[in-house]
Parts: sequence; C-alpha cells; structure tokens
Amino acid sequence: MNEIAPRPNNLDAFWMPYTANRAYKSTPRLLARAEGMHYYTNDGQEVIDGTAGLWCVNAGHGRREITEAIQKQAAVMDFAPTFQMGHPIAFQAAAKVAEMTPDGLDHVFFTNSGSESADTALKIALAYQRARGEAQRVRLIGRERGYHGVGFGGMSVGGIGPNRKQFGALLPYVDHLPHTHAPEHNAFTRGQPAWGAHLADALDGLVALHGDTIAAVIVEPLAGSTGVLVPPQGYLQRLRELCDKHGILLIFDEVITGFGRIGAPFGAERLGVTPDMITMAKGLTNAAVPMGAVAVHDKIYSAIVDGAPAGIELFHGYTYSGHPLASAAAIASVDLHRAEDLPGRARAMEGYFEDAAHSLKGLPNVIDIRNMGLVAGIELQGRAGKPTDRATRIFHRCFDAGVLIRTTGDIIALSPPLIVEKPHVDRIFGTLADAIRAEAA
Ligand code: PMP
Repeated sequence: MNEIAPRPNNLDAFWMPYTANRAYKSTPRLLARAEGMHYYTNDGQEVIDGTAGLWCVNAGHGRREITEAIQKQAAVMDFAPTFQMGHPIAFQAAAKVAEMTPDGLDHVFFTNSGSESADTALKIALAYQRARGEAQRVRLIGRERGYHGVGFGGMSVGGIGPNRKQFGALLPYVDHLPHTHAPEHNAFTRGQPAWGAHLADALDGLVALHGDTIAAVIVEPLAGSTGVLVPPQGYLQRLRELCDKHGILLIFDEVITGFGRIGAPFGAERLGVTPDMITMAKGLTNAAVPMGAVAVHDKIYSAIVDGAPAGIELFHGYTYSGHPLASAAAIASVDLHRAEDLPGRARAMEGYFEDAAHSLKGLPNVIDIRNMGLVAGIELQGRAGKPTDRATRIFHRCFDAGVLIRTTGDIIALSPPLIVEKPHVDRIFGTLADAIRAEAA
C-alpha cells in the first residue's frame, strides 16, 4: 500500500463539491458546531444561519427530537435491506410522508438525495408510460435555469450551462421550456409576479414538434438554486392543464420547496397545483442524515405495480432506500413539522421577511428582489451579462460579520430555518445591507 505523502495542510484530501478548491484552501472556513439558528466556526465565531445550511435545516439545528430518534434506531438496528424484505420503520416513514403530500400522491419511493430523487422520478415516468402502453413516450422536458441535481437524468433536464458543458453527451430526447425570469416585467415583485403565465404554452410548441413522444415535464415550482425564480401567477396551472391535455406527467421537484419552505407542507399546496410526482430531500430529515424520496400518484403506482406480471415491477432502487436511521430521522422531522406547525410559522413570518428583503431596494447595484415564503433572492448588477465576484465578496463580508448567506453568480439567496424570529431577520438583512453598501463604497 502506498503511504500517503505528507501534505502542507490537512485540507487536500477532501475534494470539495461545487467549490473553487484552490481558492478555498487559501481562506478556509470551517463550521464546527450548530445549534438552533446558529453555526459556530472552529475558532468559536457565532454565525447566524441565513440559509438553513443548504436550504435544508428547516426546523433549526441540533433538534434533540431528531438526533435522539436516530441514536435510538442505531442501537436497535443499524441497517437492513429493503430489497425483497422490509423493516417496520421504513413503512412508517413512508406513511408519515404520504400524510403530508397532496391527496393522491400516496406512495413513497426512498432515495438518498435530491439528485437521486430526480433521476428516480424520471425513470418512474418512463416506466409508467410503458406500463400504460405508451412506450413511444421517451422524451423528458425540463426548463432553462432548472436545477435537478447532478445525476445524468437531473443534469440533462436541468437548465444550467456550466453544470452540463464539462460532461459531453447527456441524455438523448431531452428538451427545455423557457425559464420564467422576466425582470423587464416583474422586477421587485413581492410573491408571484403577474406577468408570464403564457410562458407555459411553450409546451404546446414542444408537442407540435415531438408529437406524442413526451413522457414527463419536470420543474421546480419555485426555482431555488438558480436565483429564487417565483412562478408567475397562473403559470403552473397552465402547465398542469397542458400536461393533462397531452398525456404528459407533471413532476414537481420540491427538494427546496418541500417541508414548509414556502409556507405550506409542499409548494404544490401553496401554489394550488397538484403534480403527478413530487421529489424531495433536504427538509425530509431536517438534513440530519441524507435521505430523499419521490411521492408518486396512485395511478402511476397501480399502473406499474398492479399492472405488471408477477415479479419485480420496477428495476430500480438503492442499497440505502428507506435506511433505518434516515427513516427514524424522517419520522421525527415530520412529527416536528406538525407539532410546531413549521409551515404555518413560515407563513406567519413571511410578511416581515418580505418587508426586510424589499428594504434593500435602492441599495447600490440591487436590480431585483424576489421572494415567497421564507426564501428571498437579491439580484445584483452583473457586468455585461457576465457574473462578477461582487456577491462572493459580499458573502465574505457577511460571514465575517456573523451572517451566513448564499450566492449563485450575482444573486444572493436567503432561506433561514423556519424557526427564524424577527430579531434574526433584522440581523440577517441589516448585515447584508451593510455589506452591499460597503462593497459599493
Ligand atoms: N433538486 C433541487 C430543486 C435542488 O435544489 C437540489 C439541491 N439544491 C437538488 C435537486 C439536488 O439535491 P442533492 O444535492 O441532495 O442531490
């Protein structure tokens, strides 16, 4: 065995995801502890969590109810397969999740991440179309500026150039709807913009082009990672109508919008449109252990499971689907959502959060502010259409002042834990305003 050569520091072995690794190593930031609304760095600095980790720690950090449930389950049974056998806690977790999802989406397929959930939903869509005798439906439609994780399916239907161009050939038979970001009509809208429902009609154009070969459309009801794009009023309703008209499944990727983030258990409920499948992850276990899931409509489950000849009906699954520790965390997390009415809390705080976000209007370089529930996006002026590193510098200023924000390109995103209180909101946006001003000075 080769000996590992001594390194100048111990930061080299971990190839960090979605990170400028070389730059990071020159200014490493290490989070060592977390509790409630806060992180603590390894040198003891308190940092208020303005992003719920990565949009996932919705109930706040270190929730005893969840960590104890994980510990208890670890002591009882660490792991058992769910291929051709089962364990009670996975069934209980699925039933709990199904209680939260919209009516009809009563079957839950467990994965380990948002990416796996997206790929799982796309595969289920294809299997469903075959099961109902529509095997020609092989085409998958995503949307520009959509993010569905990093698997080949999710990456292909996703609409982010840099995520795709490094990897050559992607999935065939994929197309994209236009995104709904239209600052010339909708800048500084609070909640859902009035303009843009007709952008869904692009699906008609794709049907004209591809006929009856489209299996499914996947969209984030509110796109998070690409800059908080709130759906225009009537847009998702229109998409639902067109999918029904053309025999196409509608999948909502609710990895961010699920579990209370926009003021309802799922975005589907808040936005008044029920898709055929919902993908989720993040808030499902409050991010205490990895887990994702796809909630599937009865019609899909019964076409595949009841409609198949004897034997395995869906050739898909993960060693850790329904992992006992993750199942325990999911049950505890859903119970917490209910007991503390976290979606209701998010809804109650939404107005205050919205006012705080929009108070940044008029600050230097702020060209748009968008929000819904406890998510806000602040867009800064780019340079001739190209992203600057202004937002990154603002990130560093905020971090040094004890506030964690998130940036993508020139957009700053805020998504605090749903237990956030008014003083936290004041602190987050006050610090951000100072950083934006200081950056322009
Ligand atoms: N879908 C959406 C909408 C997401 O926001 C994300 C992650 N931000 C993913 C999928 C991928 O999730 P994961 O990183 O857990 O694979």
